[in-house]
Amino acid sequence: MFEANQIVAGALDLLRQRLQPGVTTYRLDRLAEEFCRAHHAVPAFKGYRGFPASLCISINEEVVHGIPSKKVFVREGDIVSMDFGVKYKGFFGDSALTLAVGRVSAEKEKLMRVTRESLDLAIEQVRIGNRISAISRAIQRHVEKHGFSVVRQFVGHGVGASLHESPEVPNYVQKHQASPRIVEGMVVAIEPMVNAGTYKVKVLHDNWTVVTADRQPSAHFEHSVAATADGPYVLSARTTDPESLTDSG
Ligand code: MG
Ligand code: MG
Repeated sequence: MFEANQIVAGALDLLRQRLQPGVTTYRLDRLAEEFCRAHHAVPAFKGYRGFPASLCISINEEVVHGIPSKKVFVREGDIVSMDFGVKYKGFFGDSALTLAVGRVSAEKEKLMRVTRESLDLAIEQVRIGNRISAISRAIQRHVEKHGFSVVRQFVGHGVGASLHESPEVPNYVQKHQASPRIVEGMVVAIEPMVNAGTYKVKVLHDNWTVVTADRQPSAHFEHSVAATADGPYVLSARTTDPESLTDSG
């Protein structure tokens, strides 16, 4: 799972370098898929429940699951969420980040910062014996303290030999609901989706793209994190050059 996630991290690093005004979201999708295949991995999202591309790209008021297109050009002032997943040697990696294109508004900057911070606080809770709700609480508390809202309709998840496994990892606390304990070796994809305005979202007519109901901006960060005896281990933080991975997938 570390190796799968290092390929994801490598791809996101490449996308970070290529994200600039004028690039199409289609081009970014091609770059991610080519990087993935060059490392003998399979793009995890392509064909998943019929999703037509390898990369989810969601701009500004788009929350998640945006479809890359030759017609969509990235513009100065956009915030662009890129979510990528691969399968490698039978295991999945899954990670996402949101980046600013050139100068963006102070509100968008703050939205990205608070979302990223909420993920960091959540990662700290990935400890054996904690409940999943500790992750949810860390995110919700930080986000709402800063006047933003967390999406309810989509959640993080366990990840392993399948892309989406139990347990669900909500970004908000579900009152009066039992929350599973974190056990050694569990890997969770924690992915706060944070909106500047209402937490409510809609799905566009393409049946994929999720947008905020009030069309205010949204940010999304995701890491795949293992619970180990030594504490949280962020598998998708880039620590290895994927070129050094030994084998084909
Ligand atoms: Mg993802
Ligand atoms: Mg995920």
